[in-house]
Amino acid sequence: IANDIVLNVNGIEVIYNHVILVLKGVSLQVPQGRIVAILGGNGAGKTTTLRAVSNLLQGERGNVTKGSIELRGERIENLSPADLVQRGVVQVMEGRHCFAHLTIEENLLTGGYTLKSKAEVAVNLEKVYNYFPRLKTRRTSQAAYTSGGEQQMCAIGRALMASPSMVLLDEPSMGLAPQIVEEVFNIVKDLNQKEKVTFLLAEQNTNMALKYADYGYIMESGRVVMDGAARDLANNEDVKEFYLGVG
Ligand code: ATP
Repeated sequence: IANDIVLNVNGIEVIYNHVILVLKGVSLQVPQGRIVAILGGNGAGKTTTLRAVSNLLQGERGNVTKGSIELRGERIENLSPADLVQRGVVQVMEGRHCFAHLTIEENLLTGGYTLKSKAEVAVNLEKVYNYFPRLKTRRTSQAAYTSGGEQQMCAIGRALMASPSMVLLDEPSMGLAPQIVEEVFNIVKDLNQKEKVTFLLAEQNTNMALKYADYGYIMESGRVVMDGAARDLANNEDVKEFYLGVG
C-alpha cells in the first residue's frame, strides 16, 4: 500500500445486534489530502462504514466482526472516538447534531475541547469564521433558530475546531436546498485545498459528490460494487443510469 494512504479499510464486516450482517466485506482507501466519497442509496451501508471507522457503532449495538481498519498503519478498531480525535480524525454525524439550546459560537467551542490553550481556541474559531462567514453573523443565535444549512456548517465548523487532519462527513447535503449544498461543498473543497484536510464523506447525492470528490466508492447492500476516479464514475454509463438519474 502506498505510504500516502491515511485510512485503509480492509474487508470489514459489521453485524448489528449479533445477527444482522450489514457490511459484507468492505474495503476502501483514503489517500492523504483527498476527498473520497462513499456513494449509494438509502441503507447501502455508507453510514455504517463511517461509524465503523470512527468507532461509533457500539452505541448502536454494532460490531466489526471481520477485517481491519488502519490509520497511517496503526490498527484503530479498538480505539475510542476520543482516541481518534487525538489522532486527528473527527466525524460529523448525519442529521448534524448541533446542540439546539446553545448558540452557534458555544457549539463551535465544544469542538475545541482537546486544544491545549485558549489562544489556540481563539485562532481556530477565527479560522472557522473565516471559512463560514455565515456562522460569524449568526454567532449569538441559538442553533435551534438557525437554518438547516447553518446547522450543517456549524457541525462542520465544530469538527474543524479540533484541528483535524481528516474529517468523516455523513450526508452533508441531507435536507438542504441545492444552492446551500453547493455552498457547503465549496467550503469543503476550500478546506481540502487550503488546510489540507482529508475528507471521507458519505453521500446519496451522487451528482454533487462526484463534482467535488477525487475518488468514489459506490455501495449497494453492504458491498462496494464499483470504485474509481470521480470523473470516470461521473462519465460511466451504468453510474449515469442508476445513480445520476440520466438515462
Ligand atoms: P442512510 O443514507 O439511510 O444512512 P446508509 O447507506 O448510510 O443509508 P446504513 O445507515 O449504514 O446505510 O444502514 C445499512 C443497513 O444497516 C440498513 O439496512 C439499516 O437498516 C441497517 N441498520 C443501520 N443501523 C442499524 C442498527 N442500529 N440496528 C440494526 N440495523 C441497522
